[in-house]
Amino acid sequence: MNRVLCPGSYDPVTIGHLDIIGRCSAMFDEVIVAVVDDSYRKTALFSAGERLHFLQESTKDLPNVKVAIMKGLVVKFAREVDAHVLVKGLRALTDFEYEFQMAQLNRKLDPELETMYLMASPEYSFLSSSGVKEIAKYGGCVSDLVPGIVAQRFAEMYGSLGG
Ligand code: ADP
Repeated sequence: MNRVLCPGSYDPVTIGHLDIIGRCSAMFDEVIVAVVDDSYRKTALFSAGERLHFLQESTKDLPNVKVAIMKGLVVKFAREVDAHVLVKGLRALTDFEYEFQMAQLNRKLDPELETMYLMASPEYSFLSSSGVKEIAKYGGCVSDLVPGIVAQRFAEMYGSLGG
């Protein structure tokens, strides 16, 4: 079984994330999308449970995709779920520096866990969760950038779908 892990904050999931998840789902037997419960890098807007729910709803047409909440080290979680490959998306050089460091650190912790990168599709290479949150907060339209369930939630939070 060729099982891969796609870890991230997914705060919230965007169509850029879904592009990577969909491409993985076509290439591997099973994809586990791991929602980082508590990132030291950034405070989440949505609870881990809500981020999980958004992902479950937006990947329900992909039978080989499972979503889980991940606590602690990604290398440990990968072992627990028996995944030997991490797949991450790369948007720009700015992603590269952080990802390069993470891949080396993870390799140190577990030399058997490989990290693979998929280049972001050009149409999503500008798209980030933080950008989406900023647009939504100030009343802009995000319905082309996130799955419907997330756009709906933003509308509840900030009053309208904007646009
Ligand atoms: P973000 O940086 O948007 O907060 P996450 O921490 O949730 O993203 O990222 C999870 C994974 O998805 C990372 O590998 C990240 O590089 C990737 N990713 C995020 N947005 C995109 C996108 N628009 N296209 C491709 N990959 C992406």
